[in-house]
Amino acid sequence: MYTAENQHHYSDLTRQFLENPAKESNLEDLKKILVYHEYKYYVEDDPTISDHEYDLLYKQLEAIEAAHPELITVDSPTQRVSSDLSGDFQQVHHIVPMLSLANSYNEEDLNDFDASIKKLCQLPLDAAVEYVVEPKFDGGSIALVYENDLFVRAATRGNGTVGEEMTPNARIMPSIPLKANFSKHHIVKAELRGEALIRKDNFDRINTEREKEGLPLFANPRNAATGGLRTKDPIETRKRALEAFVYQLAYAIDDEGVSQLPAFNTHFAGIQLLGSLGFKIPEHEMKRCKNIEEVHQFVRLWEARRDDYPYEIDGMVIKVNDLKMQEKCGFTAHHPRWAIAFKFKAKQATSKLIAVEFQVGRFGTITPVAKIEPIYLAGVTVSSISLHNEDFIRNKNIWLGDTVLVERAGDVIPYIVKSFPELRTGSEKPIEFPTLCPINDTPNPIKLIQEEGEAAWRCPTCICGLVDLQKMIFHASKEAMDIEGFGKSIVERFYDLHWIKDMSDIYNLDYEQIKQLDGFGVKSAENLKNAVEKAKKNPIHRVLHALSIHHLGKKASKLIAEQINHVLDLKNWTMERYLEIKDIGPVVAQNVIQWFANDANIAMLERMESYGVNLAQTEEDKPLKVSQDGVFYGKTILFTGTLQRMGRKEAEEKAALAGAQNVSGVSSKLNILVVGEKAGSKLKKAQDLGTVQILNEDEFITLIEENQDISPEH
Ligand code: AMP
Repeated sequence: MYTAENQHHYSDLTRQFLENPAKESNLEDLKKILVYHEYKYYVEDDPTISDHEYDLLYKQLEAIEAAHPELITVDSPTQRVSSDLSGDFQQVHHIVPMLSLANSYNEEDLNDFDASIKKLCQLPLDAAVEYVVEPKFDGGSIALVYENDLFVRAATRGNGTVGEEMTPNARIMPSIPLKANFSKHHIVKAELRGEALIRKDNFDRINTEREKEGLPLFANPRNAATGGLRTKDPIETRKRALEAFVYQLAYAIDDEGVSQLPAFNTHFAGIQLLGSLGFKIPEHEMKRCKNIEEVHQFVRLWEARRDDYPYEIDGMVIKVNDLKMQEKCGFTAHHPRWAIAFKFKAKQATSKLIAVEFQVGRFGTITPVAKIEPIYLAGVTVSSISLHNEDFIRNKNIWLGDTVLVERAGDVIPYIVKSFPELRTGSEKPIEFPTLCPINDTPNPIKLIQEEGEAAWRCPTCICGLVDLQKMIFHASKEAMDIEGFGKSIVERFYDLHWIKDMSDIYNLDYEQIKQLDGFGVKSAENLKNAVEKAKKNPIHRVLHALSIHHLGKKASKLIAEQINHVLDLKNWTMERYLEIKDIGPVVAQNVIQWFANDANIAMLERMESYGVNLAQTEEDKPLKVSQDGVFYGKTILFTGTLQRMGRKEAEEKAALAGAQNVSGVSSKLNILVVGEKAGSKLKKAQDLGTVQILNEDEFITLIEENQDISPEH
């Protein structure tokens, strides 16, 4: 329906209006692009902008029309429900029109809505209106008709008045009862509203299967669901594991044609009735709220929980509960006045890929990073996104200059969901992956290598210093030597000043010079010095980990540290010696051997030692001797939270002397969790498992002491 040229034109206009809102003079263009995006969304299931961006454009239109009512035309998108009619299916008239919903984005909008309801129902402003709040399911809407208890018809929303029939597909969906006992409630004919959805885990499974079969992947569960509704092949609907929630009993008459809806009094009662008849309805995620303040709380709660919910939801819907009040409020041509959608902060948005930078990580790994036109997503501005590696770029068919769909769910780092090759204008270019180290600009640049089985390209020799910088940042970080106050920006600053060239320089700083630095003073230089001095005493397992030896993680560092008296002992260690340690594999071993075979590394360690860094095994590095008997013999134990009567290490020693094996995380293998103050997620996880014995500090000590008292030795 739209030519490629049209599409480019509309996509340019869209960007233009998102940056500079439309005015009356561009009203026609604004309407045209809204109709275009509605077509892409509802008919092709392939939107090129996010819902949030669509809403922003729609609001521009509403604002212009509110200021200039004379400009409203009958075909304006505000005057009708967006249409998903494709013309491929038989069209049917809905018994009751299926409208859209008005949108709200913040508490102020909700308060305005509450005030408008009171006005429409002629209630005083301080009256409390009861609302039902339920999820705004992000799937495809459906209307279901039942006659004499039998399911007879299902249709999509279409243009709100006329929808497309998809009864065979709905019959495949197990959550739609083929028979329901409406007659028990004197209803001979009913029309229900609902939403067809795919659970997120099923969606992942479907996409994994499609990937195996070489089929194009779905961008999100909504697209897969609406496509599954409108396929001509019900088997395909079954494959997509579609489910239907119902959220409204819209029409119900008895055998004399009299509406039975008033018998329910409330929307909530109507939904409960549908639940009792076997339909799938929201449960704890639906709530009756006594007033608008309770609504605020409930929508915020669900905004925070949204990612844990098994289905995609893009907001909550707030509905006046009392049906008589609903009647008083009535409808506009576009939406009921008694309901409003509260839209969550956008998780997805489109942007343009303007450049790709190639960054070098601390192991010389080259990571392509996309620079995009900044967009606001779920509360933060995003302008840089990792593209991971070359395979990622090729699989997603991402070119320079492409329009890309970006997603950021909850706290998750933003990522590129897909590109839109169909919007290319000819100026886009494939991304060229460098074959030479992108940082190194010596006359003989270094060739990148790709190790077997790894997607990443690496710079094998790191002479440009950038890799050293990354290593120093890691070295000082909390995870490694934990030098408080020595964060990334300070490491970068000292590096730029040539004060630190490798890790050893961190321990030989000139604090007199630091005091003079802009932003530093006597106090902060002093603090930094104390933090560095403290780090010098760290156990050697931290030192080993902080060296950034490829694949040598925290756990392997501990295992090795247990076996040596001094870090430099490792100069003489052979492969066999490493492999004697359970859980150390040949890859780590080879990397450590190689690292200690390099004279420059040894010289650096010697410098570190001469500056006072401890390289000898400490008490903390020594393995705990687990007693072969004791009250906890044969049990695994873990401590969490802050203990009051002893330090963590002392507690672990006591546990080991009482026969327990200390472990590092909560799993089904954990037997005992000792809980100190401010215990967090570990306690919750252990409680959820239900198999872990939970002790407080006193109980732990008492158990040990009591056992000692009665043991034969005493
Ligand atoms: P919109 O897509 O913005 O026009 O919003 C209206 C649509 O929201 C309806 O057509 C339904 O498909 C969908 N929707 C999802 N959940 C609900 C719900 N709980 N109540 C009403 N509509 C819902």
